[in-house]
Amino acid sequence: QYRIDTLPFENSFASLPPAFYTRLMPTPVPAPYLVGASESVAAMIGLDSAELGRPEFTDTFAGNRVPKGALPLAAVYSGHQFGVWAGQLGDGRAILLGDVPAAISDKPGRMELQLKGSGLTPYSRMGDGRAVLRSSIREFLCSEAMAALGIPTSRALCVTGSDMLVMRETPETSAVVTRLAPTFVRFGSFEHWYYNEKHDELKLLADYVIDRFYPELREADNPYRAFLSEVTRRTARLMAQWQAVGFMHGVMNTDNMSILGITIDYGPYGFMEAFDANHICNHTDRQGRYSYQMQPGIGQWNCYALGQALLPLIGEVETTQAALEVYKGEYQQEMDRLLHAKLGLTTLQSQDKALIDEMFALMQANHIDFTLFFRRLGGLKLDDPGSDEPVRDLIIDRPAFDAWAAKYRERLRAENSVDAQRQAAMNAVNPKYVLRNYQAQIAIEKAQSKDFSEVQRLLKILEKPFDEQPENEKYAELPPDWAKELEVSCSS
Ligand code: AMP
Ligand code: MG
Ligand code: MG
Repeated sequence: QYRIDTLPFENSFASLPPAFYTRLMPTPVPAPYLVGASESVAAMIGLDSAELGRPEFTDTFAGNRVPKGALPLAAVYSGHQFGVWAGQLGDGRAILLGDVPAAISDKPGRMELQLKGSGLTPYSRMGDGRAVLRSSIREFLCSEAMAALGIPTSRALCVTGSDMLVMRETPETSAVVTRLAPTFVRFGSFEHWYYNEKHDELKLLADYVIDRFYPELREADNPYRAFLSEVTRRTARLMAQWQAVGFMHGVMNTDNMSILGITIDYGPYGFMEAFDANHICNHTDRQGRYSYQMQPGIGQWNCYALGQALLPLIGEVETTQAALEVYKGEYQQEMDRLLHAKLGLTTLQSQDKALIDEMFALMQANHIDFTLFFRRLGGLKLDDPGSDEPVRDLIIDRPAFDAWAAKYRERLRAENSVDAQRQAAMNAVNPKYVLRNYQAQIAIEKAQSKDFSEVQRLLKILEKPFDEQPENEKYAELPPDWAKELEVSCSS
């Protein structure tokens, strides 16, 4: 059990040459306060939960003091934004404190701690180096919600706030979110050196990431090819996991794509409610480049951008292309697996594609709530048509549902599916609780008037997304009408 100042900080990233980062301190904020904290993340790094209420904790994670052993720095990277080469970006408002030991899925590893919103850096460009309370709460809650859903993601330890105002569309109070990942190296970190024609640095970075996070690939004939292949596979699987839970990232620029294949950089994300494959969760994304149905293809596009950047290390264009070819197969296999699980099917059959396509057409035509549909479908009983009512209630075109449900039942019978077993299996993969935008909005508005109880309450609910929580039934209902007016954009 560590205290803040006994956390055994190292900074592995700082072992790279100085060209990779700028060492600097976070900029303090006036009178910080704790908005929310995750006990499970504290436990993950062995931090005593008693620390969470201490002033040292708040001060440290507001950037007002630096814990012993930390070596704060901001990293440089570049990237493609909305399909266009954007040149140099970098940690414009994030400061890496260093890495500490952590139990990652119960295995010993290390996690980097990063303060997001902690002041200007050499990479801030036109920005102010700050984050607002609204976006910090959104990142905090969604990181933890995704982790609980079993989706690879960065984590979040806490949010601290300050009454210091920053200018967005209107003045808003600022906040800092402390997030954790084994590394925050992105596809754009590699593109940076490739487009600057610095192949020595490119190799240093690749070797750093492979040695530390993909050591098994050292044995391969061409470790860089194997590396690209493995990142491509992980990215493909991540996209399938997003699709299967209706998660939309909103800003899938190459600088927001983790080299570990985990979800990072939560901004104007959203969970699908009324199903529309063309749904765009980011108000700023007018073209819909990052709409729900575009995500798998964009994930692949981003892997190609990474492949381009790794070309000098891999050697040949053909070899690089071959490494990228794993994407489609990996995505399809994972998606099939996840959709079968969502439907409670234990075998793969040739007619399943038609059943699943018809299901999505039904969801699209009726704008069915994504989360409630799958959750309630689990309650369907083979010999009891009345058991359809909860899911049927979500659908306008009842005859169309009945026709589909008849085929679904027939398919279930063909594998001798057992109601209770199937429902238990479906409930373990189809969440009852996801972070709906309007719920985050309520928590944010309360927090803006200094009531942080709803942030903590949502966190607790979202930590157990698959459980029945009778006392929280209203968090598993259809969103209210006013939720339709909500818009989230890049400005945060
Ligand atoms: P994002 O689209 O949020 O991933 O951000 C793209 C780039 O803009 C990154 O380099 C961020 O560090 C930078 N950035 C975003 N907001 C700010 C801000 N308020 N101040 C400084 N840099 C920012
Ligand atoms: Mg980013
Ligand atoms: Mg961002």
